[in-house]
Amino acid sequence: MSNDQKIPFLDLASLHQALEGEIMPVVQKALRTAGFIGGPMLEDFERDFGRFCDVTHCVGLSSGTDAVRFALMAGGVEPGDVVVTVPHTFIATTEAISQAGARPDFVDVDEHDYCMDPVKLKQYLEQDCYSDAKTGKLFSKRWKAPVTAVVPVHIYGQAADMDPILELAKRYKLLVVEDACQAHGAEYFSKQENRWRKAGTMGRATAFSFYPGKNLGACGEAGALTTNDAALAQKVSMLRDHGQSRKYYHEMEGYNGRLDSIQAGILQVKLRHLPEWNQKRREIAARYNELLREATPELILPVERSGSRSVYHLYVVRTPERSALQEHLTKSGIGTGIHYPVPVHLQKPYRAMGFKDGDFPVTEKIAAQILSLPMYPGLTAAQQDFVVKTIAQFQKINEGPLSVQPAGRA
Ligand SMILES: *Cc1c(COP(=O)(O)O)cnc(C)c1O
Repeated sequence: MSNDQKIPFLDLASLHQALEGEIMPVVQKALRTAGFIGGPMLEDFERDFGRFCDVTHCVGLSSGTDAVRFALMAGGVEPGDVVVTVPHTFIATTEAISQAGARPDFVDVDEHDYCMDPVKLKQYLEQDCYSDAKTGKLFSKRWKAPVTAVVPVHIYGQAADMDPILELAKRYKLLVVEDACQAHGAEYFSKQENRWRKAGTMGRATAFSFYPGKNLGACGEAGALTTNDAALAQKVSMLRDHGQSRKYYHEMEGYNGRLDSIQAGILQVKLRHLPEWNQKRREIAARYNELLREATPELILPVERSGSRSVYHLYVVRTPERSALQEHLTKSGIGTGIHYPVPVHLQKPYRAMGFKDGDFPVTEKIAAQILSLPMYPGLTAAQQDFVVKTIAQFQKINEGPLSVQPAGRA
């Protein structure tokens, strides 16, 4: 049946149909108690997600964007500071930096794992910064402002190489905020500490998003911050709730950045399935790797570093013939995505800050070549076979290896 061959990029409807029996009682409970904001449903989820991440504190928030913003603010980033992140991310990372009053700056990513390149971070800190004579603080040469934080992004579900990043941050007294919005449950083997560490435990604070399509997704907007720092967690609890320490007593101006109880209750239900879903994603990725390596040796496949356990939020391949391959897959009824087509530094608001083509060559190169294939726990082996067959067919039609470089851009 040709209908079986229609493979969406992401199938959220089937997943939720299967969970209806577990989710509806949560909604009913909220309706019957009118407990829509705060209360036990929120606290239970915060406790469970904190446990899942191996941290002492979890604060539910309205989005991953707010989680990054509040982490920076509560971690001590001041208006006018420079916060370093990567240009290969979703714009929310840099929006949150700007919303915290700071200025985003970038270091390029590694060509293999697509995460922050620690060597580039080192170069940035050593060559693009100086120690300010008056304050002794680390200053950016370009912005003549203090560099106070770094935000590595665990892109596509794989943790950035944190050991060297943490070491540099310690040396230069930088706050580390992990953007784990795509990496719920990802693990990283720290050689420094000789143990596996979970995404969400390595920085001073970590941002998670529960946007519906994430590995753990709400039925609406949601996010959370994790930390082992009680004082920071306390400050974020106030920031999310109009700066209140208790009702109508405001320590400061805050925001409306709460996680509502229905979403928290739904997330708690779904969290029970997350380890199994992540395992499925890892199996699907391993099977894609095996089949694609065989069928199209020229296609560049995702690289899982040794000492890294990715949770494959996305399965991203690379080819210089990305547009033609995407079109071929679309015509065959296979949904794909591009995460992300335009590097953040080349988006309008950051171009206006003076960033330009050529500033971050690795990010710019991969942005032109990446393609995200269908990836979700319910993806069947037959569906996967069809995706692989269709990619192999594309290669044959083109009568040539996928890796042939097109004229122009390298
Ligand atoms: C989804 C995402 C965010 C933002 O999360 P929201 O909940 O949509 O605000 C931030 N950073 C990255 C890398 C993301 O993928």
